[in-house]
Amino acid sequence: MRKENNMVQELKKQLEAETITVLEQEPLCQHTTFKIGGNASLFVEITSPEQLCKAIALIHQSKMPYYFLGKGSNVLFADEGFHGVVVHLGKDLCHIRIKGNQVYAQAGASLQQVCVEAQKAGLSGMEFAYGIPGSVGGGLYMNAGAYGGDMSCIVSGASCVDMEGNIHHLTLPELELGYRTSCFEKNKWAILEVEFTLHQGDKDTILSQMQDYMSRRREKQPLDKPSAGSAFKRPQGAYASALIDQCGLKGYQVGGAAISEKHAGFIVNLGGATCKDVLAVADDVSAIVKEKTGFVLEKEIRVVK
Ligand SMILES: Cc1cc2nc3c(=O)[nH]c(=O)nc-3n(C[C@H](O)[C@H](O)[C@H](O)COP(=O)(O)OP(=O)(O)OC[C@H]3O[C@@H](n4cnc5c(N)ncnc54)[C@H](O)[C@@H]3O)c2cc1C
Repeated sequence: MRKENNMVQELKKQLEAETITVLEQEPLCQHTTFKIGGNASLFVEITSPEQLCKAIALIHQSKMPYYFLGKGSNVLFADEGFHGVVVHLGKDLCHIRIKGNQVYAQAGASLQQVCVEAQKAGLSGMEFAYGIPGSVGGGLYMNAGAYGGDMSCIVSGASCVDMEGNIHHLTLPELELGYRTSCFEKNKWAILEVEFTLHQGDKDTILSQMQDYMSRRREKQPLDKPSAGSAFKRPQGAYASALIDQCGLKGYQVGGAAISEKHAGFIVNLGGATCKDVLAVADDVSAIVKEKTGFVLEKEIRVVK
């Protein structure tokens, strides 16, 4: 315990010497849309590409575990917190620039803001992403998608940082985007900036499409309650929400966590839910669905223990 604390203090000193903002024992529940999670030993707030490279190199040398965090809209942190360094790529790393049909957005920019800028420039293709409450980095990592589109349809490349702090440019094939997955699951690199290739469109048509997708979300999803979106991936040949509904599990509750009454694909925090509550709901529901329908549900939410 004392050794871990010495490592934490030493790394904090090194990061601060590089003028990087470091918080100790930061409550992760304040950084996730689920509003769940204990404290991170260290929480690093990244404000520039240079800081990201420097921070990663130092953290890697320290051998402390680390985790990249965007808007926290797809993660569930343990109640015990994270004994390591959470590297937050947030609102201070959110520059967006447009050149022709290309949009370059830093990892901390919100997908929503990128959609707004693209619409203003009359660029079409990413309307589907308007209501996804994540960052550009989290969106690429997850190959986020909705309404028939996903990041693989619009991303043409990305700048990333390896564990030694070197910047690389990856092309679309190198990103290995699949259903809610990417190469970053394996290589553990940080996403720094994403290049989207869109096409010319009519500004009013783009706007009304974005608004339509957003109103469909408001109508169908429990946006008034903390959650991390769809709890489960879509199994081949079925929809997780339909299977859960069919098994009569809407409202299934453990502690403060429950299957949403409005959308059976969502696990919601009704107030005071713990990570254990959410996992118990997910495990129970998966077991019941498997027994009654034969389909296996895999979690889409990233659980960080
Ligand atoms: C109400 C609601 C609706 C949602 N609807 C959808 C939907 O329609 N479609 C969909 O696909 N998802 C949806 N989601 C889930 C979520 O918004 C997406 O997965 C989103 O892309 C996650 O982005 P984030 O910034 O919040 O990532 P986080 O939750 O912060 O992180 C997700 C993963 O990405 C990694 N990561 C984040 N940033 C970086 C980075 N810069 N470099 C390397 N790794 C990084 C993290 O380590 C983690 O493994 C929804 C969630 C909510 C709460």
